[in-house]
Amino acid sequence: MNHEQSRSLYDRALSVLPGGVNSSVRATQPYPFFIERGDGGHVIDADGNKYVDFVMGYGPLLLGHDLPEQVQAAVQQHASQGPMYGAPTEVEVELAEFVARHVPSVEMTRFVNSGTEATVSAVRLARAYTGRDKIVVMEGGYHGAQESTLVEGSGADTHPSSPGIPDSFAEHTLTVPFNDEEAIHAVFEEHGEDIAAVMTEPILGNYGIVHPIDGYHETLRDLTEDHGALLIFDEVITGFRVGGLQCAQGKLGVTPDITTFGKIVGGGFPVGAIGGRSEIIENFTPAGEVFQSGTFSGHPVTMAAGLETLRYAAENDVYEHVNELGEKLRSGLTDIVADQAPNYTVVGTDSMFKTIFTREGPDGRDGHCEAGCKQRESCSRYDHCPKNGMDVKRTETDRWERLFWQDMKDAGVFLTANQFESQFICDAHTESDIETALEAYKAVL
Ligand code: PMP
Repeated sequence: MNHEQSRSLYDRALSVLPGGVNSSVRATQPYPFFIERGDGGHVIDADGNKYVDFVMGYGPLLLGHDLPEQVQAAVQQHASQGPMYGAPTEVEVELAEFVARHVPSVEMTRFVNSGTEATVSAVRLARAYTGRDKIVVMEGGYHGAQESTLVEGSGADTHPSSPGIPDSFAEHTLTVPFNDEEAIHAVFEEHGEDIAAVMTEPILGNYGIVHPIDGYHETLRDLTEDHGALLIFDEVITGFRVGGLQCAQGKLGVTPDITTFGKIVGGGFPVGAIGGRSEIIENFTPAGEVFQSGTFSGHPVTMAAGLETLRYAAENDVYEHVNELGEKLRSGLTDIVADQAPNYTVVGTDSMFKTIFTREGPDGRDGHCEAGCKQRESCSRYDHCPKNGMDVKRTETDRWERLFWQDMKDAGVFLTANQFESQFICDAHTESDIETALEAYKAVL
């Protein structure tokens, strides 16, 4: 494949953009490939190479790159009527009504501009609502580029994971391994009175895809309730993807107090949202006193794109299609892995999937998910699934990034560039794309 244009664009970019990119995951080796345009379930790079796209903008593009007529029309109408006003519009109300109608725990929503902004505001809201400072997050969980959750280490050794964040931020953040019942009980025993909230993705989507073991979220629900803390589900990835319009919380049957959204709810435009019971969400200004504001929040073009995307999904067989292709891909991959790379694991659910470069369990041996994962039917080697973020971190991450990702790209398949982030299927993907992908996996693995 020729990559001359990408290389020369990268050279130019390096002089004016730090690292040549605007989001660090895009800085693939030896240089990023620059996209010229999308085409259904594909992208075409600056040199004219075409790839089956399983990155899908890191999740927002449920429908793929060619937005259906009704979405395009709504976007264009709102863009041409004056893109934004600094005053409310009907479309914000309609999208909030749609979310409240479909997502079990949500009565009210505050829209913001990114998943990061949503989790920042959710943490502030939980702290204000409970009058407590501490939050509990999962080791290796990702909630955006925000000071309170950019932490590493565990227990008393939790510290900021980036320079520029004062240690004092991490003092209020407690980390536990996902799926570890003992650890979460211990943290509540020691700090129960000071914990404002537990924040977790219902299914970890930034750390390889890790499914909850049976009863884990119920434990989080019970412990938070018993100790007067809130449960925050970060559904920035899983929202309107896993479990369809009811989101992962509907599929898993657990009701959080606050939910953060991003990605799909903006139909491919910058978005975030914080939803929950009115009694909690109404603490945001101006209804309450927890400061929250934004020039672009509830942007009419974004709201229209999100609303029409979700309406389209509700009126067509979008979730059936993407989930069926997901099942087909995971099942094909499972056979290939069993045959060619038995040390690896295939994980995922609905329209998310990933191959994990290990089959080891939590204690470093060929592990066994004894509690039984809820995704048994869709997750190939459930008995060897990683149980938390650290299981995934211990895998052959370097090999995934340097060799596997490159070779898959050369075979015409665009995957997220590291071992940790999910791959996504969109409505524009076809059976033939799945077959192309399986052929590529077969050759490359
Ligand atoms: N939370 C989760 C679970 C995410 O996956 C992400 C982004 N991948 C974020 C928060 C941050 O969202 P954004 O990049 O829109 O700020």
